[in-house]
Amino acid sequence: RSSRFTNTRIPKDKLLGGLISPGFDENSCLSRYKSNLYRKTSPHKPSAFLISKLRNYENLHKHCGPNTESYNKALKQLISGNVSSSGECKYIVWIAYSGLGNRILSMTSAFLYALLTNRVLLIDQKPEMADLFCEPFPNSSWLLPMDFPSRDQFNDFDQHFAQSYGNMLKYDGIDTSSEELSVSYVYLHLAHDSDNHDNLFFCDNDQIFLRKIPWLFLKTDNYFVPALFRIPFFREVLSQLFPNKETVFHHLGRYLFHPTNEVWGLITRYYQAYLAKANEKIGIQIRVFNTLTTPSQLVMDQILSCTLNENLLPEVDRLKILPAEDQAKNRVSKAVLITSLYSKYFENMKDMYRKHPTVTGEVIGIYQPSHEEHQKTEDNLHNMKAWAEMNLLSMCDVLITSAWSTFGYVAQGLAGIRPWVLYRIENRKAPDTACGQVMSMEPCFHSPPIHKCKAKTLYEDNSAILPYYIRHCEDVRRGLKLF
Ligand code: GDP
Repeated sequence: RSSRFTNTRIPKDKLLGGLISPGFDENSCLSRYKSNLYRKTSPHKPSAFLISKLRNYENLHKHCGPNTESYNKALKQLISGNVSSSGECKYIVWIAYSGLGNRILSMTSAFLYALLTNRVLLIDQKPEMADLFCEPFPNSSWLLPMDFPSRDQFNDFDQHFAQSYGNMLKYDGIDTSSEELSVSYVYLHLAHDSDNHDNLFFCDNDQIFLRKIPWLFLKTDNYFVPALFRIPFFREVLSQLFPNKETVFHHLGRYLFHPTNEVWGLITRYYQAYLAKANEKIGIQIRVFNTLTTPSQLVMDQILSCTLNENLLPEVDRLKILPAEDQAKNRVSKAVLITSLYSKYFENMKDMYRKHPTVTGEVIGIYQPSHEEHQKTEDNLHNMKAWAEMNLLSMCDVLITSAWSTFGYVAQGLAGIRPWVLYRIENRKAPDTACGQVMSMEPCFHSPPIHKCKAKTLYEDNSAILPYYIRHCEDVRRGLKLF
């Protein structure tokens, strides 16, 4: 394995402990080998087994990727429906769905599933995702070709689609143990509205059946990795891949998602202008899901209560006013990077720290790269800004994130940081505690299956009987995350 890689001149840490392949042209994707210069050094090393699994996957992807002989053969199987001879390459096609944070987490889940099942991951990225990510696998592409035959049909894929795995089980009563049964594809609906039949995907027997199917199509807005750890079939290999289970997204996210040069330009220019010189960088990600039920004054109070109580930012002396000349010349010691769709939190904090001196004498700079006002998932430039901001947050030393937000999960995972999470404001009422530091940097799986597989009874989800490495999330009570 190593002979191909030992001659390289790229220093080891640039490759994140061997996580990233050295086989790329550096200039075509500057961030791939440079992000580590901006982020805190990760104390978490990828396992040798994970590294070898990734190198093997890269070879498989190169062999089976778009427009290879094997790919064309598999495509014929899909079109003809004739799967009598088993092809050498099998695929999982990820179909873009939901906001960018959700997409990044669900792509990661799909990739881990591909690693576990020797499938090749292909991405159906809609136009709004163009130019966000570099290709992650050397000498190949993970993009589903534009002329892929049933692409138009992807819009029909939802909970009611007849050839979804759940509906095949529910209405067709298919016998998954039958040797006879062979279909060329199955649609997997693993989203927030999946039902118990869809969720049988997370069971051993069903995995044995799905192994035979050449094409799987997947729509999900979930980080379903914790549920893969509950499938006995995968548990052992997952433990070997990730001896420290808190690092699944941290490693796979840093492996897969590299901003394109265009986005990298946005990131580095902003970083150099506002963040680079500060002694400490604090990222505050403010996600308000419903402006009607979440009054902005409550949010503002909650943020300040969190930063003060947790000693993340100093208090100001409101009785003193800083002279204008001092405001301009003082060197920033702490830079606060705010990300939000709205500008009012930024305005409020900026005014506070500009006008008044801090009780500690520290100078606090407040910055916000954009305020888009609305979520515009189908807008490419909007997504570029969102992706740039997730990366800027991942370059901070301390993070404060918002409950329920996958945007924040991506930032914390790429950073390798356990953030303080601002607990959810419900029914216009502030939570008892403003925020708390999470116990694991892993993202939360918001809607995990609740049925046990064979028994078709409910999981007893009481924390005391969950496996020691799975816990309910701090921000989403019924959610599950790895520790
Ligand atoms: P979630 O809804 O918080 O779980 O995160 P998602 O990323 O899946 O969806 C929210 C989307 O709203 C983002 O992808 C952006 O398009 C937009 N958005 C939300 N918060 C911000 C922000 O702080 N900055 C920017 N630029 N966009 C945001």
